[in-house]
This record gives sequence, structure tokens and C-alpha cells, in this order.
Amino acid sequence: AMTLTVAMAACGSTEKTVDQQASGAADAAGALIGVTMPTRSSERWIGDGDNLKKQLEAKGYKVDLQYAEDDIPTQVNQLDNQITRGAKLLIIASIDGTAITTQLQSAKENNIPVIAYDRLIRNSPNVDYYATFDNFKVGVQQATSLLVGLKLLKEDGSKGDGKGPFNIELFAGSPDDNNATFFFNGAMSVLKPYIDDKSLVVKSNQTDFKTVAILRWKPAVAQDRMENLLTSTYKGGAKVDGVLSPYDGLSIGILSALKSNGYGTAGQPYPVVTGQDAEVASVKSIIAGEQFATIYKDTRKLADTTVQMADSVLKGQKPTTNNDKDYDNGVKVVPAQLLDSVIVYKSNYQKELVDSGYYKESDLK
Ligand code: BGC
Repeated sequence: AMTLTVAMAACGSTEKTVDQQASGAADAAGALIGVTMPTRSSERWIGDGDNLKKQLEAKGYKVDLQYAEDDIPTQVNQLDNQITRGAKLLIIASIDGTAITTQLQSAKENNIPVIAYDRLIRNSPNVDYYATFDNFKVGVQQATSLLVGLKLLKEDGSKGDGKGPFNIELFAGSPDDNNATFFFNGAMSVLKPYIDDKSLVVKSNQTDFKTVAILRWKPAVAQDRMENLLTSTYKGGAKVDGVLSPYDGLSIGILSALKSNGYGTAGQPYPVVTGQDAEVASVKSIIAGEQFATIYKDTRKLADTTVQMADSVLKGQKPTTNNDKDYDNGVKVVPAQLLDSVIVYKSNYQKELVDSGYYKESDLK
């Protein structure tokens, strides 16, 4: 039945291509848009989904919003369903950027454009646009915040009065998420000279992306890895001074491991731990002096950008992009619109997160 539906839909949409050009706008009105998000286990994706839905509905579109709880077969089913239900455009934040090639092929056959949301979809020609943040720069900012915490740099970027060598450990995100490599490479571009001149020492010697990557960004896995490092590399009494963590959820796991190994007291403060997403629990932790910093990505702006892209595509216009070279998905370079992110410390959370209306002061109490 599935094949039949898809085949019929394919015929329907071939005929429509002609109309669409003639009256793109009329055709777009009230169209169904499929939005698939990876998981509800992290706040940011809940905010992303809500913002997209609200803004698309405000433009008169119907929205099918789905979460897959980080399960690939679930996301695959959700996409199949959206295609069968006649979605006119798909916005996808993928779990595994290589696992949905078949669904994208069927989207193509049904003339359904695809926008990759936040995470690049890899190994498929059927990805039309990409809306995201400057992921390499996010990594640069994460490493910069680590250096600021160690006082090798000041918040204004000038040289600090910190004296190494400092012991640090590195964590990276999920290896099937294209962003994770960009974050890690961005961070290493900043840290490498300090590692080379020995002001930073990765005491475990684990510096390879594959070794330090945390599958599916799972906090418990990061916690375990940190525990293991503390009971092996740091067994002899050496202290960890800094941890490069690419995501707030992992930072929380890392801080728990540190806490159960005696860190977080007056005599033995936490090392400098970085993060990403400015999630409420981590901002509270920053205010409490535990996590050192996070990277704030205004997901309202990402939703806004994506909605404009979707609207242009459905109206037969060319959406605005500002990067047509960096996001090669293995088959093609996907035209992308990149947004800026901001390092958030205890010193500027008020201005960046509260004054901007991203959070209410009471959310952070
Ligand atoms: C996103 C990050 C997020 C991570 C874990 C990445 O793809 O860009 O903002 O921290 O996934 O959810």
C-alpha cells in the first residue's frame, strides 16, 4: 500500500510542478510542513520545535511536528508518514545525518523540498538548504571560554595572567552528528598551539575525535568517561584543571563525575567546564559558579531563518543563504544560512539571556 501511495503522490506532484510555477504562492497557502526533531530529552529541541510550529502557523501553514527520542527507526517512520500525508516541505533535524537517504529519495520523487535544520544531512543529493549556526565558530568559542576560565585569555580576548601547564580533558559530541566534528575542529584550532607549547596538557593523551566522542550526546556516557579518567589518569593525585565539553547535558554529567570524586569544594574547586546551548540547568550552574561557560545559540532566530527559507521555497523563490562552500554533505555542497552564537559567562548571562528575553530572571532562580 505504501508503494502505491507514494507512486500516486509522485504522479500528482509531477503534474503540479507546472501549476506551482504559475501560482506558487496560491499553492503554498495552507500547505502541510513536516518538522522532525531528534529528541525531547534536551530543552533546546523543544524550544526549536515550538518556535518553528508557532511561526509557520502564523504564516498560515499546517505543521506536523514530531520528536523521535533519538531513535533512528522512529525518525524514519515519521518522515515516511509526513510524505504519505502529503507534506509539501520537510524541515529535518536528523539524529544520524546519514540514515535517512531513502526517505529523502522519496521526498525528491514527490517533489518535496528538504531543509536540514541545525544538523547537516549527509550522503544525499536531496537536501535543498541548510539553516544552522556557524558550527566551527561554536567550537572556537568553546575553546576560547576554556582558555578564559584558565586565565590564559581574558574575556576581551587579550592575554591573561594564567600560567600553565594545565591538565585538561576533551569531550566531543555524537560522531553521527555532522556538527560534532565542526565543534571539535573549531575547538582544536584554538587549543592546538597551547597543547603544542605545553601550556595545556591532555593528561589522558586522548585527543582523537573518535576516542573522545559521546554517541547520541548522552550525559550518562560522558559521566562514565569522566569517572574512568578520574580513576585511571588522575589516580595518582594529579588534578583536572579544565574540561572541553561540547554540550550542556554532557557538562552536567561531567560535573557529577567530578563531584563524586571530591571536586566542587572550597579546597578543590571544579575545573573549568565549558558547554553549549545555555540550557536552564547549566545557566543556573554557571550562576552558582560550577559550570564555567556555555555557548548561547538563539534558537528563536534559527526558527525565524528556517521559516523564511521554507516560505521562500514554497513560493518558488530563492531563499537567502550566506555560506555556499563549507557544508559539503559528501554528495553536494548544501547552501546554508549561518547564524552567530555568543559565549555566556556568569558576567554576561543577564545581558545575553535575560535582557534579550530568551529567559525570564525567574526561570534561572
Ligand atoms: C546541536 C547542539 C546540541 C547538540 C546536542 C547539536 O547538533 O547543534 O546545539 O548541543 O546537537 O543536542
